[in-house]
Amino acid sequence: MQALTTRAKVAVNKKMTFMERLYLPAIIGGMRITLHHFFKKKVTVCYPEEMRPFSPVYRGYHVLKRDENGAERCTACGLCALACPAEAITMTAAERKPGEENLYREEKYASVYEINMLRCIFCGLCEEACPKEAIFLTDRIVHTDYKRSLFVYGKDKLVEPADKDKRIDVSKRQTKSVLEFKSQPGFAHNTLYTKALKA
Ligand code: SF4
Ligand code: SF4
Repeated sequence: MQALTTRAKVAVNKKMTFMERLYLPAIIGGMRITLHHFFKKKVTVCYPEEMRPFSPVYRGYHVLKRDENGAERCTACGLCALACPAEAITMTAAERKPGEENLYREEKYASVYEINMLRCIFCGLCEEACPKEAIFLTDRIVHTDYKRSLFVYGKDKLVEPADKDKRIDVSKRQTKSVLEFKSQPGFAHNTLYTKALKA
């Protein structure tokens, strides 16, 4: 039968030599490797005190955006949940009541919107699927915890603050080619971003 690898060694049941039975050469060899690594530059970082620089388009946990007037952009269409390969997104749709126009941009909104961060693989497909520019991945890191239930992020963690100064900046994810793509007539409702492209 053809060998699967050229590195295969045939095991032989031979007696150990005197030097092998001393174990000293093997111990010295092991110590030499340990000492070599001991004085090498460390590749580990002391997170969280020390942080490596992130990629400008690092995909951390999501933000649900508000429009320029502070209303939630999400219309609970469910496209993000449909696009999600990990089935991490669930939501409940509700109808906007008269007087809530300042809270929700469209007649329908997500009264419950949850992402299970243990399921999420941070692929960004939800962001691409969203026709309302409502969901973006950010550079925020999902924090560790001991309970699985705490990794189900609801609107309290996902929707950005209404205060304009505290909004989550997603401009790094709005590259020129993305803006061009989203300026197509099918995305005409994204006036904020169409304006940004023209500027
Ligand atoms: S980033 Fe990917 S896996 Fe995570 S919620 Fe969005 S579509 Fe699902
Ligand atoms: S985030 Fe976007 S795709 Fe997902 S339900 Fe809301 S509007 Fe639809």
